[in-house]
Amino acid sequence: MRCPTCDRSELIESVENYHYRECGLENITLSGITVRKCPECGVVMPKIRNIEGLHDCIAKFLVKKEERLLAPEIVFLRKSLGWSSSDLAKNLQIDKTQVSKWEHGRVEMSKSNELLFREIIARGKKIMDYHREGAARKAATVLRLFVEMGQDREWKLAA
Ligand SMILES: [Zn+2]
Repeated sequence: MRCPTCDRSELIESVENYHYRECGLENITLSGITVRKCPECGVVMPKIRNIEGLHDCIAKFLVKKEERLLAPEIVFLRKSLGWSSSDLAKNLQIDKTQVSKWEHGRVEMSKSNELLFREIIARGKKIMDYHREGAARKAATVLRLFVEMGQDREWKLAA
């Protein structure tokens, strides 16, 4: 395939780990996916199958994690529901400016709001093994996450 950006070279395909910044999170690596690169202009184009399934996999991990949510994770989860900031504000019966403060990391979400938010995601995404007693008990940390596609073509966290 010819480079769609510069049209000066064929794209070179390789299988590698890809830092998936496009999702808005800084800590997601996709294991062993096909990546096309242009040797001329350097454009990098990952081939990501089943993006919806991938985002569901990440959302499921985030909802269930023991650590408090980071600001970009709140944004990711809200978007995974297809919700605007106003939608979230309405559902939590709070002011929209509050959502913006959380999502920019200016104010920490109260734990009760965070648990309610997680509950909403778990229900919306039908995550049946979400246990609220274990959720959000620990301080927020950036966890490196490796996600890979299994032979069944479902995305899952790599061991
Ligand atoms: Zn190019």
